[in-house]
Amino acid sequence: RIIMGIESSCDETGVGLVRLHDDNTVELLADEVASSVDQHARFGGVVPEVASRAHLEAMVPTVARAFDKAGLKLSDVDAIAVTAGPGLAGALLVGVAAAKAYAAALDIPLYGVNHLAGHIAVDTLQHGPLPDRCLALLVSGGHTQLLLVDDIASEITELGSTVDDAAGEAYDKVARVLGLPYPGGPPIDKAAKNGDGAAIAFPRGMTGPRDAKFDFSFSGLKTAVARWVEGAERRGEDIPVDDVAASFQEAVADVLTMKAIRAAKEHGVDTLVISGGVAANSRLSELAAERCAEAGITLRVPRPRLCTDNGAMIAALGAHVVAAGRPRASLDFSANPALPVQIVSI
Ligand code: ATP
Ligand code: MG
Ligand code: FE
Repeated sequence: RIIMGIESSCDETGVGLVRLHDDNTVELLADEVASSVDQHARFGGVVPEVASRAHLEAMVPTVARAFDKAGLKLSDVDAIAVTAGPGLAGALLVGVAAAKAYAAALDIPLYGVNHLAGHIAVDTLQHGPLPDRCLALLVSGGHTQLLLVDDIASEITELGSTVDDAAGEAYDKVARVLGLPYPGGPPIDKAAKNGDGAAIAFPRGMTGPRDAKFDFSFSGLKTAVARWVEGAERRGEDIPVDDVAASFQEAVADVLTMKAIRAAKEHGVDTLVISGGVAANSRLSELAAERCAEAGITLRVPRPRLCTDNGAMIAALGAHVVAAGRPRASLDFSANPALPVQIVSI
C-alpha cells in the first residue's frame, strides 16, 4: 500500500510518499520539502501569517514533485496522513485542507496524525521497525520531551519535558546573542567544531538532587550565555564565538544525554531514539553514542535530513497507523495546535 504524508505545522511544507509492505516494514519513496525559512530569517523566528501563505503557494507544487520523484500517480495512493497538530493553527489548516481535498477526490481514507510522534516514527524509514518498547528523546524547535514508546501507532507516555524553553529554542536564542543566523542550530553546530566545549562552565539546568528527574530547563543556560557575552563586551573583549558555541552545545548535549540514559536505565529500556530538529546536532549524537555504548543501550538517530520537519515522517507514522488498523479520521476533523503527544492519531 502507498501512503502520502503531508506536513505543514511550522515553516516547512513537506510531502512524503512511502510504501507499507505486507510485513509492515515501511519504505521511503519520496520526501519533498519547500521551506519558507528564508522569509522568517530577518525576524529571528517564524511569522505565522507568512508561513501560512507560503504553505498555500507551495502545497500543490510540492505534492507534484513528490509524485514525480517516486514515479507514481495520485491514483496509486491508498491512504493519506496529515499533521493534525501540534503547530501553528493557520499553517496546520493549509495541510489539513489539502489532505481532505485529496482524500475526498481520490475517495481514500484520511488520518490526522501527531507531528511529534512523526518525528519518532521517521526513524523506522532508516533503521527498520522499533522494538516493542523504546525510549524517545524528542528535541525540536518547540518541544523537549522524554517519552516511553510502547507502540508508535497508539501508545506513547511522557516521562518528562522542558519546564521553560525547548532545546531548539535555546539554540535559536543563543545564536542571536552570538550574531549567528536563524535558525541557530546549524551555525552553532558548525562554530562549535572549532571551539572548546570545556572553555566555559555553563550551568546544567534541572540536574540538582531535588529537581524532577526527567524534566529539563534551558532558559537559565540561555541567560547565562547572554550574561557571559555581555560581560565580555563590557570589558571590551572580543567574543570567542567558537568557544561560547561549543561550551553551550556541550551543556545541552550533556543534560539531554544524562537524563535520557537515566530514564532508559530506570525503565529498563535498551533502545534510545533521538529525534526532532536538534537530533541533527553532531555533538548530541556523538555524546549519546559514547554514553549509550557505556550503558549497553542501542542508539538510533535518523540522518539529519529526516530529523528536521518533512513529509516523510508523517507518511511513515501514517503507515504505522494504517498497519495497526487504527480508525481513520472523519472528513470534518479539525487541526489541533496543542495536540498532546499521547494522541498519536485522531
Ligand atoms: P516542533 O517539532 O516542536 O513543532 P519544529 O518543527 O519547528 O518544532 P524542528 O524542525 O523539528 O522544529 O527543529 C527545528 C529546530 O532544530 C530549530 O530550533 C533548529 O535550530 C534546530 N536544529 C536544526 N539543526 C540543528 C543542529 N545541527 N544542531 C542543533 N539544533 C539544530
Ligand atoms: Mg522549520
Ligand atoms: Fe518538528
